[in-house]
Amino acid sequence: MLPIVLHPHPALRFKARPVTRVTDTLRQQAMQMFESMYEANGVGLAAPQVALPYQMFILNTSGDPEQKDLEKVFLNPEVLEKTGTAEGTEGCLSFPELFQKVRRAKIVRVKYQTLDGTEVEETLSGLPGKAFQHEYDHLHGVLFIDKLGPIGKIAARGAIAAFERMHQQAQKKGEIPSDAELLARLEELAKLA
Ligand SMILES: [Zn+2]
Repeated sequence: MLPIVLHPHPALRFKARPVTRVTDTLRQQAMQMFESMYEANGVGLAAPQVALPYQMFILNTSGDPEQKDLEKVFLNPEVLEKTGTAEGTEGCLSFPELFQKVRRAKIVRVKYQTLDGTEVEETLSGLPGKAFQHEYDHLHGVLFIDKLGPIGKIAARGAIAAFERMHQQAQKKGEIPSDAELLARLEELAKLA
């Protein structure tokens, strides 16, 4: 299983590289991401959240590991068109227990590749549309805390500061490498995209 990194791990702000070839390693990483996501009771997970700097994310909007038919892997996703706005409560596995309202497009026309190389274009709304936009943002180093309104920003301030303190303490204790080392690792992995 791939451990999920928490804010402010530098992987979350690192711009993910497009996937140029689907290797067995990439397939395996996608499968491991599903395990990590289910373990954390999530419905979506982006590769940067497991410190892999690739344009890949997964969704199972049921959150139910038994519903394999709802498991989807998205490579090199693009948003072609946005329509309307919808506000909803969101959380993120890299910010455990922080939930805030986020305004997003109501309907999105999207394009992506699947693990078997198929190009897909489709229109998403509801939870799939919202989750797609959240995970897509991760691939560009954008987090849901960046999208909060002024009241949400104030409400989330304490929780965000606590994540930042935890990160620094873990580094002080040597439980996780320094940001410079983490960034060097990401650069190495990015070369393998
Ligand atoms: Zn997230």
